[in-house]
Amino acid sequence: MDKNGYKAYIGIGANLGDARAAVEQAITRLDGLPQTRLTAQSSLFRTAPIDAGGDDYVNAVAEINTGLAAENLLAALQQIELDFGRERPYRNAPRTLDLDLLLYADRQIDTPQLSVPHPRMTERAFVLLPLLQLDPFILIPGKGAAHQFAPQVADQLISKID
Ligand code: AMP
Repeated sequence: MDKNGYKAYIGIGANLGDARAAVEQAITRLDGLPQTRLTAQSSLFRTAPIDAGGDDYVNAVAEINTGLAAENLLAALQQIELDFGRERPYRNAPRTLDLDLLLYADRQIDTPQLSVPHPRMTERAFVLLPLLQLDPFILIPGKGAAHQFAPQVADQLISKID
């Protein structure tokens, strides 16, 4: 860690109620976490649900700088999800707010609670494209340049919200 903390990327998605407001409020909450500041945020994007029911999703990626350890950051993300009234009645149920820890510095983490880089991030346009908007040359530890995965998600419908 340098004196400013670690760079981390958070994937944000919502598809219940006012999904756009939920994503915007979640970004504000990230900036308010202890030892953490928001350093960049992608545009908001609209995407069709994958393997899930409900309305379209609103998605974004946030870049933060944090002094929190990865496990503590995950716990903080889960608390924000709870605060948004997330309920999980069944797998892939529509959700008020979903927060994923995509990248944490150059770390590779594989514990029962936490896999970083997020294992499915290269398969999802709603993660990959906002991330590439923030940094077109970003590297995924263990996988290489994120942009090489873009062609594989080219068939997934995604549009930028103005
Ligand atoms: P989900 O239903 O997709 O939000 O997954 C939540 C579960 O995934 C939690 O039990 C987390 O412990 C676990 N998990 C593993 N790796 C990650 C990650 N990188 N970001 C968020 N949740 C993770």
